[in-house]
Amino acid sequence: LTAEDLTNQTLSDINSKEDKLNTFITVNDKAIDTAKKIDEDGIRGPLSGIPIAIKDNIVTNGLKTTAASKILYNFMPVYNATVMDKLDKAGAIDIGKTNLDEFAMGSSTETSYFGTSVNPWDFSRVPGGSSGGSAAAVASGEVIAALGTDTGGSIRQPAAFNGIFGIKPTYGRVSRWGVIAFASSLDQVGVMSKRVEDSAKVLSVISGHDDHDSTSSAKEVPDYQANLNKDMSGVKIAVPKEFWQEGTHKDVLENVNKALDAYKKMGATVEEVSLPTLKHAVEVYYVLASSEASSNLQRYDGVRYGYRAKDVKNINDLFVNSRSEGFGDEVKRRIMLGTFALSAGAYDAYFKKAAEVRTIFIKEMTDVLKDYDLIMGPSTTTPAFKIGEKVDDPLAMYMNDILTIPANLAGLPAASVPAGLAEGLPVGLQIIGKPFAEQDVLNAAYALQ
Ligand code: GLN
Repeated sequence: LTAEDLTNQTLSDINSKEDKLNTFITVNDKAIDTAKKIDEDGIRGPLSGIPIAIKDNIVTNGLKTTAASKILYNFMPVYNATVMDKLDKAGAIDIGKTNLDEFAMGSSTETSYFGTSVNPWDFSRVPGGSSGGSAAAVASGEVIAALGTDTGGSIRQPAAFNGIFGIKPTYGRVSRWGVIAFASSLDQVGVMSKRVEDSAKVLSVISGHDDHDSTSSAKEVPDYQANLNKDMSGVKIAVPKEFWQEGTHKDVLENVNKALDAYKKMGATVEEVSLPTLKHAVEVYYVLASSEASSNLQRYDGVRYGYRAKDVKNINDLFVNSRSEGFGDEVKRRIMLGTFALSAGAYDAYFKKAAEVRTIFIKEMTDVLKDYDLIMGPSTTTPAFKIGEKVDDPLAMYMNDILTIPANLAGLPAASVPAGLAEGLPVGLQIIGKPFAEQDVLNAAYALQ
C-alpha cells in the first residue's frame, strides 16, 4: 500500500461519512501531494505515510485554521505549530482539521460556528468536546489517530463518549507553540486513537522541548510504544471516593469497578483515598480558565486576524463590532466572566481565591501520588448525552467536567480508556499518573485493552 493509496482511501472514506458526522471543518486537499512526495522520497520517520486528523485550534501553515469561530473563519496561518512540524518530519500526513467547540470552550462541539459533530455510535448524541471532531473521526474509522487539546477534559471526555483511547500528557510535555491559546496554564496537546499503541507512537513524536515554548520540558522523550507493557503487578492504584459522584450513572460505576477488579487480578492494589477539595474544582477551573481566556482572546480585534465588521465609523466600533459579531455566546460568556474575575474589585475574591484553592488541590493530588502510582475513576459521570440536551444550561454543561478538570489543575498526565457500555454507549475509565509518567498511564491502559 502506498501513502498515496492510503490517503486516497482515507479521503473517500471521509467524503462518504462527512454528511452525517460533520467531523471535519477543512479537509486538506494538498494531502495527496504530500503523500506522493513521501512515496517518492521513501520512509521519512515513524509515521511515514499515515494520515492524521488535526483539531482545528492547532495552526497549520497554508491550511485554514478557525478554532471553530466566526472570528477566524478565514484565517490562513503562515507558520506551523511545533507539533505540526514534528508530525511532518515523522512523515505523517495532515488529512484535515477537525471540528471543536468554539476556541475549545465546551463539552459537546455544539458551540462550533460550523455546526455540531455527531457521535458515530448514535447520531442523536454529542461526540463530546471540545475535541469531539477528532474523537468522532477516530471512532468512525476515518483516521487511525487524531490530535486534540485538553484544557479541562477535552481529549478524555470525547474519548470516553466515542469508545476510544485518548491521552493528555503532563503540562509541558508537548509544546503549545502554535496552539490557539484558551487557558495557557492548563492547555495541552494530546492524542486520540482506537489502539493505545498508536497514541503511544504519536505522543513520542510530538513531545519534547521547544525553544518557542518556555513551559515545555527538556526531559528526555521516551519511546512510549517500544516501552509498552502490560505488567500491573505491584502497581498501587488510588481511587478517590469523591470521584464516585452522586448522579454518576450506575452502569458507569459498575464498568469502572469491573476494570478495577481486572487490575486487582493482574496483581495491582486498589485503595480508596480522599480529595476533599474536588468539590470546588469546577468553580476554580471556570474562574481561572475564563480569566486566562479573557486575556488570551484580546488579540482578536478585527485588525490582525479573521473576521472584520463592516460599515464602522471609528476604530472603537471596529473592535466592538468585530468582537460582538465574531464571537459566539459561550465565548462571550467566558470573556465576561474572566474579565469580571480579574477586575480590581473582584480580583481578590475570585481570581486570587481560585488560584489559592488550586494550590491546595494540587497538594492533595500530589500527596496521593506520593503513596500511589496511579489515580483512577470514571472519565465522565454519564455516557454521551443528547444533542441539545445541555446546550441551554451552561452550569449543567460545566458540571459535566468535574472528573476531568483535576488532572489539568495539577498538570498531570491523564487518559481515558474504553471500559464497557452503559445503555449501549461507551464508558471511559480515567487513569491519572505522576508528572511525566505518561508511560505508566499508557501501560495501564494497554493492560486493559
Ligand atoms: N469542557 C471544558 C470547558 O468548556 C474543557 C474544555 C477543554 O478542555 N478545552 O472549558
